[in-house]
Amino acid sequence: MTKVIAINAGSSSLKFKLFEIDSEKVLAEGIFDRIGLEMSKIKIEYQTNKKFEVDEKVKDHAYAVKRLLGLLLDLKIIRDFSEIEGVGHRVVAGGEVFKHSVEITSKVIRKINSLAEYAPIHNPANLMGIKAFKKVLPFATAVAVFDTSFHQTMPKENFIFSVPYEWYQEYGVRRYGAHGTSHRYVAKVAASMLDRPLEKLKLISCHLGAGASICAIKNGLSFDTSMGFTPLTGITMATRSGDTDVAMLSFMMQKLDMHSMPEAIYDLNKRSGLLGISGVSSDMRDILAKRETNLRAKLAIDVFVKDIVKYIGAYTAEMGGVDGIIFTAGIGENSTEIRSKILNRLAYMGIEVDEKKNALRGQNLLISTDNSKVQVLVIPTDEELMIARDVNKIMKKKLKH
Ligand code: ADP
Repeated sequence: MTKVIAINAGSSSLKFKLFEIDSEKVLAEGIFDRIGLEMSKIKIEYQTNKKFEVDEKVKDHAYAVKRLLGLLLDLKIIRDFSEIEGVGHRVVAGGEVFKHSVEITSKVIRKINSLAEYAPIHNPANLMGIKAFKKVLPFATAVAVFDTSFHQTMPKENFIFSVPYEWYQEYGVRRYGAHGTSHRYVAKVAASMLDRPLEKLKLISCHLGAGASICAIKNGLSFDTSMGFTPLTGITMATRSGDTDVAMLSFMMQKLDMHSMPEAIYDLNKRSGLLGISGVSSDMRDILAKRETNLRAKLAIDVFVKDIVKYIGAYTAEMGGVDGIIFTAGIGENSTEIRSKILNRLAYMGIEVDEKKNALRGQNLLISTDNSKVQVLVIPTDEELMIARDVNKIMKKKLKH
């Protein structure tokens, strides 16, 4: 039984999912949270319903990895480190260099490092995870899976910004997008649910989590996406503004006596979006709970819904039609109400929703009626599974050679 572990190392956390890869069964999953702080939290779920939870100091990522592997042994999830034959690492920025997932070599590490200026918080954290695992599992096949790779197929007219062309040529300023692993996963599941070849479908994937992005997927390839050079653009998010007028920043810097651009951008990243408009919370559940009594909460929902409706309209036009719309991630998977609000406004496209199915949760669902001109699907995302599958593919290729 081949085991593969998928790793998502953030600046202060490390999430993992361990798979028995042939059956794609999840053997264990968990998180090391608040790494480097006074007290960290370790949570592991395993063997269907067992849980391990402890608060202790985890000083850095290297220690987290050591502790994690030790726990996998102690909890009898594995018997020996050598059972883990593959390790897949999520890497946020792959620039134009990485168009696919790749086996991690020292050259790949250098390149990921050189791309850190595109994701100054994330890429260094991802590298910490990579190095820590290399040390403890030197013989496992290590693979980097990039959030941006899927979007490398976008045609130039969709990734170039209307700014001096030299900015792209000399500094790599362009749309890179994000959530690529999620969009790629749900598109694949959608094709199999619709029983049609992915290569013949026009899909719009709505990844609606705290970070949110919309992706137009034409013939199985990313065609356009709402996130840009950074994850700040596109639709309104939990705390990020989405698309806005950047010239407003110099105006506000004067008004608020801000002294640097990063200070102003901080407000767009952390104090805007659902939180900024509602003043209530960045969490959609809190905002929905206040929608009847608080006008700003209602407004935040209206803006969120409008942004999504707008992108779906735009991407349908860009692709010359759409066969299926997919909802995924926290809000997309769980909120019947937000889905209804969006889909009711898309009735002009001939979309009909089966509200009974739309009320369900926690599984792959086709929520449009038989008469609907466009199929609507709810698909829980599984980025870790996609990462583990990529590792498996590369491991199998190596075996052949
Ligand atoms: P991320 O992975 O980007 O941190 P998630 O995909 O977990 O985010 O999504 C988080 C969002 O999902 C939060 O805004 C949360 O309120 C929302 N969410 C989760 N469950 C529900 C629900 N039942 N109804 C509405 N929103 C929900």
